[in-house]
Amino acid sequence: MASALAARPALGWNQETHRSIALAALHLSRAADARVPIEYRDAFLEATAEADPFDRTCLYHRGTRDHKEAAVQAEKMFVALYSPQANANLYMRSKILGQFVHYVADSAVPNALISGGQSSIVNFFGNRNFVLYRSRHPLPRPAGAPAPAVAAPAPAGSAPAVPPGKSFRELLQIYGSEAQWAEDQEESYSFTFRLAVNLVVDALLLLPPREGKENAPDAGPAVFVINRMDTGRGGKSYDMMMYSVEKYQGRSGRTYSVVTDMWILPGGGPAKSVPNLLAKKALQVVEWRKRQEGDVTKIRTLLFNNQDECAVEVSVKGAKTGFPIPGSIPPNSLREVEVSIPTAFLETEKIQVAGKVGPCSHSPGTIPASPRVVYANTANAPEFKERIADNPPPQ
Ligand SMILES: [Zn+2]
Repeated sequence: MASALAARPALGWNQETHRSIALAALHLSRAADARVPIEYRDAFLEATAEADPFDRTCLYHRGTRDHKEAAVQAEKMFVALYSPQANANLYMRSKILGQFVHYVADSAVPNALISGGQSSIVNFFGNRNFVLYRSRHPLPRPAGAPAPAVAAPAPAGSAPAVPPGKSFRELLQIYGSEAQWAEDQEESYSFTFRLAVNLVVDALLLLPPREGKENAPDAGPAVFVINRMDTGRGGKSYDMMMYSVEKYQGRSGRTYSVVTDMWILPGGGPAKSVPNLLAKKALQVVEWRKRQEGDVTKIRTLLFNNQDECAVEVSVKGAKTGFPIPGSIPPNSLREVEVSIPTAFLETEKIQVAGKVGPCSHSPGTIPASPRVVYANTANAPEFKERIADNPPPQ
């Protein structure tokens, strides 16, 4: 076991973040909420945070120990939801449902967690804006689970079909791996969190809704968790990492150590303050994920047009030249775009995203940012309680 620890094993999300991902999923989709029993929400959330009492810090939920691989575990938990035990006991069912959600969320985690560097994301939530909205990743029912008694009603709108020929486990891994597309950087944390939240929604939709909630829509508001205050915790540096290690003697007589708890004491450090997304009426960058492919760097970015007019002639620009983003961004909307830029340009120029205002044109990838609910980022995993503003749907 000592060697496994020395090899920096993989880690999943921490307990607070697991809870936050589950809460966000229920917030983002009323249909997902309709899959979770009302009676034992606390038990559900507890199990979501701590799915495996023998591995509370998620040391072995991903990586080389196959039996704990997150997507494999999620599949097992889904099947367990149909066991006689789960059918007979709503409390037990709520616990298993929480464990299911835990492992689904662990299938999309930041690079730093995959490589075992949990310390480097001690400030995952601090000094950042998070934007959540529904994006669909359709999943088939896991093998081994009985077919649903009643076929689920087709979701409204043009829901994408399940890609053929792939199992639940494989698709969950494929969708989750999008979190590894970009080089790890803080500007992609909002994306990765949203991906985990959406996968939880997609997975919950495989289950039957509560009685009377059959028509709950797979939709909700856009959720903004905005950076309002400088907590002084934006820095990457940290002071100390503490483990609690317990030694056990196995049946074979061999002694092994288990990390039972982990604390990281943040020390903060120099950081540039990230402005509150909603404070300025301007075109803003919410997420910035990049990946170098030789001479070219691909950038997947989420832009937010917080203006009452359409943003046009948008480009990623340096001092003199720029790289245009085709189309426009409607007022008060988000848009996902991908641009390819010579790596040398990014390395030598101080770049920014800029545009003008004008008449809208075709803009694929546009996401309405209204109606929305807004929460203050407290630098901790959001509990979605401190709602600070709503805005009405557009007229
Ligand atoms: Zn885990």
